[in-house]
Amino acid sequence: MRNRNFRQYYGKPRRNLSLSARRGLGRKVRRVRDIPQNVRDILLRLEGAGYEAWCVGGAVRDLLLGREPGDWDVTTSARPEAVLSLFAPHALPTGLQHGTVTVGGGRGVEVTTYRLDGDYLDSRHPDHVTFTASLREDLARRDFTVNAIAMDLRGRVSDPFGGREDLARGVLRAVGDPEKRFGEDALRILRGLRFAAKLGFAIEPDTAAALHRCAPLLGRIAPERIREELLGILCGPDVLPVLLDYPDVLGVFLPEVLPAVGFDQRSLYHCYDVWEHTARSVAAARPVPVLRCAMLLHDLGKPETFTVDENGQGHFYGHWRKSVEKAEAILDRLRFDNRSKKTILTLVERHDAEMPLSERAVRRNLARYGEETVRLLLEVKRADNLAQAERFRDRQRLIDQWETLLAMVLAEGSCFSLKQLAVKGNDLLDLGLQGPAVGKCLEELLELVMDGELPNDRAMLLAYTKEKLL
Ligand code: ATP
Ligand code: MG
Repeated sequence: MRNRNFRQYYGKPRRNLSLSARRGLGRKVRRVRDIPQNVRDILLRLEGAGYEAWCVGGAVRDLLLGREPGDWDVTTSARPEAVLSLFAPHALPTGLQHGTVTVGGGRGVEVTTYRLDGDYLDSRHPDHVTFTASLREDLARRDFTVNAIAMDLRGRVSDPFGGREDLARGVLRAVGDPEKRFGEDALRILRGLRFAAKLGFAIEPDTAAALHRCAPLLGRIAPERIREELLGILCGPDVLPVLLDYPDVLGVFLPEVLPAVGFDQRSLYHCYDVWEHTARSVAAARPVPVLRCAMLLHDLGKPETFTVDENGQGHFYGHWRKSVEKAEAILDRLRFDNRSKKTILTLVERHDAEMPLSERAVRRNLARYGEETVRLLLEVKRADNLAQAERFRDRQRLIDQWETLLAMVLAEGSCFSLKQLAVKGNDLLDLGLQGPAVGKCLEELLELVMDGELPNDRAMLLAYTKEKLL
């Protein structure tokens, strides 16, 4: 597998790093002030009771990067029972067997006792955990160096694995032997790709090699966990190099992507192979799960529908149909919810469909898919085109025009649903229609109004019904 991630994408300075982060990761005072009051209160209470207590994990990483931290995690020398009694009644034993107590209301802060993980027998869970008095040992069990930095109440940092240096250089590196670490818990493989896509970090070569080698272990991870990590990867601002460099890893749970890798399209419209086109279209779409999933799946049917004409041009007639089949199987396998599944499948099905530039077409699309999905479909078409050969970019203008027309149709209150139709079922019952004939007649009137053949006017529609449809 090619490993192009270093220079090509990451040779430039890390744009995600704030200046202070690049200079030495922030001044103490600012850092401490940035720890929220509720977390400081927890650290203070633990220290006051004679224990060690540190912030740790993603929040410290994000704080040092100058990013907005998400959830706060605290690690402490106090045993879970001590934490529970110290914070009663505001403490919940949310994961006692792993030493975790959640403190405070709302989302709360997870307070976890320093621990060592036992053997990982199933590539996912330690068979037991052992509490320890050593912060270093607790940091050593964490996945990546940038997630293994602890910071205390005074802004003092404990960073035994060089996490700050990796943060400053924009490098993602496993703590310890990467192969052993991914072997213990295969979810770390996808967490690694997610952090690379989210932070724009280069994956350190030994860690990268282990990601490839250990990928088959992903077969043991629950589909729901895979789905969540996949969505995190897809929605990361730096997803492109991850998709280009790790299709073999994705291929463990999405074998459908593998035929696309390196598949030459032999088409004027395309300057990339199917996989690179796919990856670029994902990156070109807004980071919204349904959109980015639709881009990932939209061309999976290409390799098996490939034909070459007498001029040597490649074609993929009806590839959308095969893509929908594969997409449906994938979305079921990864347990997507029905609503997302429906939207994604519509987007895949229609990604290549012609959309004539007419009010009639706009209304018909609105009637069939609804405004939200039509807007997403335009975004899909944009992203798809942005990942095609440069000289076909004028299609962007066509999409602009479609968008303008859509805005117009919506603004003028145009009728494209039975709800908006000026005639209702009761009107037709009054005219003597009964049963299924009522619905049929309403549909017929709606078609005529959408096509501009009749105005959406009650009297006119009733007159027409009396004359032609009774
Ligand atoms: P995010 O920004 O997604 O919240 P995070 O790094 O905070 O990222 P969490 O899942 O909240 O990730 O976990 C908090 C910390 O716990 C991590 O930073 C890491 O130190 C440790 N951790 C979590 N999951 C694992 C794992 N599977 N293996 C090893 N350490 C882990
Ligand atoms: Mg977190």
